[in-house]
Amino acid sequence: MTSDLINKYDLRVPRYTSYPTAPHFNETVDGAVYKRWLSELDPKSELSLYFHIPFCDEMCWFCGCYTKIVKRYEPVKEYLGALLAEVDLVADALPTGKAGRMTAKHLHWGGGSPTMLKGEDWMAIMDKLRSRFDVAADAEIAVELDPRTATEDYIAELERAGVNRASIGVQSYEPKVQEAIHRIQPYETTKQVIGWLRAHNITRINMDLMYGLPLQDTGEIETMIDLTVELQPNRIALFGYAHVPWMKSHQKMIHEEDLPDANERWKQFTLAVERLKERGYVQVGFDHFAHPDDSMARAIDTGDLHRNFQGYTTDSAPAMLGFGASAIGYLPQGYVQNEQPLKAYSQAIYSGVLPIARGIGLNQTDKLRRAIIEDIMCNLTVDLALRAKEYGADMASLDADLQKLQPLTEDAICTVHGHIVTVTETGRPFVRLVASAFDEYLSSGMGRHSKAV
Ligand code: SF4
Repeated sequence: MTSDLINKYDLRVPRYTSYPTAPHFNETVDGAVYKRWLSELDPKSELSLYFHIPFCDEMCWFCGCYTKIVKRYEPVKEYLGALLAEVDLVADALPTGKAGRMTAKHLHWGGGSPTMLKGEDWMAIMDKLRSRFDVAADAEIAVELDPRTATEDYIAELERAGVNRASIGVQSYEPKVQEAIHRIQPYETTKQVIGWLRAHNITRINMDLMYGLPLQDTGEIETMIDLTVELQPNRIALFGYAHVPWMKSHQKMIHEEDLPDANERWKQFTLAVERLKERGYVQVGFDHFAHPDDSMARAIDTGDLHRNFQGYTTDSAPAMLGFGASAIGYLPQGYVQNEQPLKAYSQAIYSGVLPIARGIGLNQTDKLRRAIIEDIMCNLTVDLALRAKEYGADMASLDADLQKLQPLTEDAICTVHGHIVTVTETGRPFVRLVASAFDEYLSSGMGRHSKAV
């Protein structure tokens, strides 16, 4: 891949963790609409639950999440009260499933830092959830864990609460990079925490790595991959740092002159990908990697890979309910997002209203395009005729989109044979560009997204 091509396609396109993407959500979807959508769910269908804890005890300067820095536990405890009240509001709006409750198969705690919650609170939280949902015996219960503050006792509390997957943010092991991003996390700390997790039967380990950080170079990327592989995580996500200081003001603390340029980012990315594959990991989509024994690696072969707000997933539930400030959820009817300011969020809940700030209902064209984009992002190929038939659409309605692929086919990023579009191995890093050809909303959202590579 020449640097010309990298520069040519250095475009900002969505990551397609939803379609339409979040900037297109609007205020026509409110708590009343969400309540109706919840009541219309098939009571026999399975649910996925996402909980957002928007607190951390210090700010990492690269952070792109919605979080607040707190030094005391009171605000976290108060927030937890609102979150559990939201669980009641949502559960009350659901149809009655088996044993009076709908079944939850996936529970994911993200943030911020969910491990800001005190160890002793986890059991109470899970008891509450089990009282309002039928949490399946084999449910995946995943927590994003900050190794810098974890202790073995804390991990034992997570085990008691039923947690069986942990995601650990690493970014880099190089002290000067850690200093430049204001996140000091020695390799030994990460290794020790992973040892404790495994000793406490939390054996599904995800690690999040980053490239494109200030002062990172290819030598450091090589070391990062080798040290990570030694820890044998089941899944690895490899994210490019997105520098958007106009949206995330703390990123102004990062010196722009320390950031690698597009060509250096590309070198870091390709080096990391090649090294992970050489070490036996299977590439999933464009930025995830799975151990060959992991269910995500198997999902590629069985066509069971999906994409949601956590990135690539094996979660196939038709509805993911989001809890907490700013949390996003999806239902067959559309997407919803909760209020972001903590005050607005808790005020809505304590007035007995579902705290929805915005969302979007899906029409049949959105559903068709969402399926096409998910096929491309997950399977790197799509049969347009098959999808058009499934959604009762005319193939001709996709002609203009196919036209947009022409420059990408000329550059061997994808091929088009009849009605089948396939991303080439060369084009894999550009899969978001291929998907974007089918995004009807893109022209009104350009400039808000991170770089494709
Ligand atoms: S711990 Fe995670 S969520 Fe909190 S500031 Fe750091 S990167 Fe952001």
